[in-house]
Formats: sequence, structure tokens, C-alpha cells
Amino acid sequence: MLEEYRQQYVNFNAALIREQYLYYSGQKQELAVSPIYERYSDLFTRDSIANLKQTLEQTPSHFETDRKAILRLLTFAVDKLLEASVKELTEAIHEHEAKSTIEWEGKRLTFQDCAIAIATEADRAARLVLYNRRAEIIERLNDLRAERLSKLHETARSIKLFLAGERTSETEHNYAKLYEGLLGLDYSAQAGEAERLLALTESVYVAKLDQALKRDLGIGVEEAQRPDAIHFLHQTRYDDHFPFDSLLEVYRETMAGLGIKVELQNNIHIDFEPRPNKAPRPFCAPILIPEEVKLVIRPLGGQSDYAAFLHEAGHAQHYGWTAASLRPEFKYTGDRALSETYAFLFNYLLGDNNWLAQVMNFRASRDFIDQLILAKLATVRRYAAKLIYELELHTSADLTRAAELYSELQTGATKFKTGQSEFLFDLDDSFYSADYLRAWALEVVLREYLKTRFGKRWWANRRAGNFLKEIWETGQLYSADEMADQIGIGPISFDPLIEEFTQALK
Ligand SMILES: [Zn+2]
Repeated sequence: MLEEYRQQYVNFNAALIREQYLYYSGQKQELAVSPIYERYSDLFTRDSIANLKQTLEQTPSHFETDRKAILRLLTFAVDKLLEASVKELTEAIHEHEAKSTIEWEGKRLTFQDCAIAIATEADRAARLVLYNRRAEIIERLNDLRAERLSKLHETARSIKLFLAGERTSETEHNYAKLYEGLLGLDYSAQAGEAERLLALTESVYVAKLDQALKRDLGIGVEEAQRPDAIHFLHQTRYDDHFPFDSLLEVYRETMAGLGIKVELQNNIHIDFEPRPNKAPRPFCAPILIPEEVKLVIRPLGGQSDYAAFLHEAGHAQHYGWTAASLRPEFKYTGDRALSETYAFLFNYLLGDNNWLAQVMNFRASRDFIDQLILAKLATVRRYAAKLIYELELHTSADLTRAAELYSELQTGATKFKTGQSEFLFDLDDSFYSADYLRAWALEVVLREYLKTRFGKRWWANRRAGNFLKEIWETGQLYSADEMADQIGIGPISFDPLIEEFTQALK
């Protein structure tokens, strides 16, 4: 049974990711995922989940890798059953968003264009108007989102009850507990860490943010609002140092320093084509791991494009170096914090003055790096608040209080006054916020480890490249915590991340 399941699991993932790749790279007009879910629906029925659960129970505890493999397939099946249970609603929401436009200065902006327009609009009053117009579109769909969330919660409760049996109490049967059980994570403990991070970085954050806002936007921190954050975080002041036509060369040179010749990597295909419907953000689509990985960008230039592309390149290298011989469940399903750690490692090369000088020929980079770290802290604090909020949302499921809570937590953490309209929009499924936070925490330590072992210019050291290839080869076999232990830099703690902020911004 398991062999057949595995093969279908690979086929499903490849079909789904290929469809997403074609749509988001602008090669297909419609994102047709429903037919794929239907074709492979046997993979995530309650029967399949029951079979996997039974197989897991019958596998002796000393067959650790086998058990881990089955647990991955079970996690996949549960995740997809949840997604499938709300797929009509998900599609309806996407469809409405895709159809929504606003008139702006004689042009018709799509919903996606709207976010970019807010980020690039230098006039504050105009930015607020744009933001409010976009918020109206978001609010119109909040009933659908609430319905989707309730459905997800209901399905999660029944799966959790089924998996746990009679052994647990009713209060344990919720969305948060389901994911904690499958992924072996403790979101309450992490939310506690997130609160600590918020408290310990509060004073440096407020002081530096106030300075930066006065300088860049001419406003104090007490006046700042969410649309200002979107604009501020986009950071265009130093964009001349990051021209779009050098991006691929920078990528090539950076990887060459690690002994990776990207021009010979036939399994990592860079899609650089400027198609009109291509998503503005770079992304990585691992269709077949490691044989067919797409690294996609619509190059616009500027620091945010470089950071996002290097981030996705980190994912692409991870998938591209994954050993072909690994079981597929250790290639496609795992601890998302692990791949995000590798992605952040390349993402934050932009904060390395030596890399900026050597590869980007950007020498007087002090102010830029200060600004980058402040933006990073703003983002990390935003995600800390997201996790605290999501834990509450997915545990108590009291939607009447959720909008208010979202607004309070986001405003408190970011200091940008945030309304209630995005309380169900600014939300990813399955606690992705927690994975990002663990990845941020681990990346700081991994980066320090690389510096200690291979030198400050670790990115120009082939031995560092060999080390990375060696860990990438294990694909997603290990969780981020297990990998940290393997390297000898665990357990994952938020302290080094907090320390990085307080040191850099003091
Ligand atoms: Zn990522």
C-alpha cells in the first residue's frame, strides 16, 4: 500500500507545483488546482488517513526512520484533506480578488498592483487613500474568509478527535493542537518566546523606527500607520546600488564563491522571462526534487528584489542538492523552518558589509545595513504578533474578538497603527508564522557558525559550499531542530536573534 501511495504522492506534488508554477510565472491564465485535487483525492480521504495511522501504529518504535516517514505522509494527508475541505471557498476568494480592480489616476489597478502601488507611492495622503480602497476589497471578502476558517476548524477538530481517539479531552481537539501533534511543535512555548522577543527589542525598535520615519517619511512613530509600513519596508533609498541587470551575475558569482557553478545546474532552471502576468515577487517551484526546480523572477531591480531573489535561490539550492535517493516524503514534506533557514542565509547576505563590498561593489554601506536590520526587526516583530494572534484565533475560534485582537497586537508590535480589515486576510494556513520565526532564530546561529568555521567571507569559501551541499543533500529528512543538533548549534533559541537586534541597533 505504502509504495503505491508514495508514487501517487510524488505525482500529486509534481502536478500541483507545476500548475502553480505555470500560473504564477504568467504562462497560464487560470490556476486550475481543483482538477488536480480531484484526480488525486484518494491520497487524502479519511480512509487514507486511517490507513496511515494504522501503519504508523504497527511500525515498531525502533524503526525510527520508517515511523518518521509515515508521519510525514500522514501530515501531508491531513494538510491536504483540510485544504480540500475548503477548496471551493479558497477558489471563490481568489477569483473575487483577481476580478477586483480600482480606478487610480486614470488607470485600472488590479488587486495585486494595488499592494505594489502602496509600496511605491511616495505621497502619504495618496498612500492612505489607496490603502483604504484596497481594504474595502479585502473587507468585502471577509465573510467568505470567516466561513472558510470555520470550515477548516471544524474539519481539524474531527481529524484531531479521530487521530487522538478517546485519550484526550475535548479542549485538545482544535486546529492548533492538530498541527502541534503532527509537527511535534509547541506553539504556546513559541508564542511565549515571541512575547519575550517583543519585550526585549521594544525600546531599540521604537527609538530607531522613530528616527528613520522622521528622516524618510517626515512623520513620528506615533503617527505611523500600516500603509506607511508597506512603503517604508519597501526601502528604495539605496536601489541604485541594486540594478536589475546585474542580478543574475550577482547570483552566479555568489554561488561560484561556494564552488557551485549555476550555469551547469541543469536541474535548477532560472525563469527570467518578463511575461505581463508574471507574479511580481520571485518564487521557487520545486516540481520534481531534485530533478526539476524552477527559480522564477520578474526582475525589477532594487534591494527588495535582490533580497527576495537570493531568498528563493536559497530554497532552490536546497531542493536542487537534495539527494535523489531520499524517500520522497523526505523531499516534499518536512519542517518548513529548515528550508526557510537556508533561504534567509542567502537573503541576509545583503546585510553583510564584506559581501556588499566584494560582490556588489557597494562600500559605504553602513547606513544601508542599519536600515536593513531595522526593517528585519519590523518584520520579525510583525510575525511574532502574527503567531500570538494565530494561536488565539485557532484555539478559541472566537471570531467576534479576533478582529480587535489582530489590530491591537499588530499595532502594539509594529507601532504602525493597523486596522481590523486584514484580520483574516493577513493570515497563512498551518502556522507558517511559527516556521518563519524558528528559521530567523536558526539562521543567525548558522551564519555565525559558518563565519567561525570558514571565515568572515564564508560565502567565498568552497569548503563552506561543500558543507552546505552536505546538509542540503539530506533534503527535509531532519527538522530544523534536528539539523541544529546535527551541526552542533542547537537547540534553537530566540536569544541570538534578540541579541543581533539589540547589538546592531543600540
Ligand atoms: Zn521562503
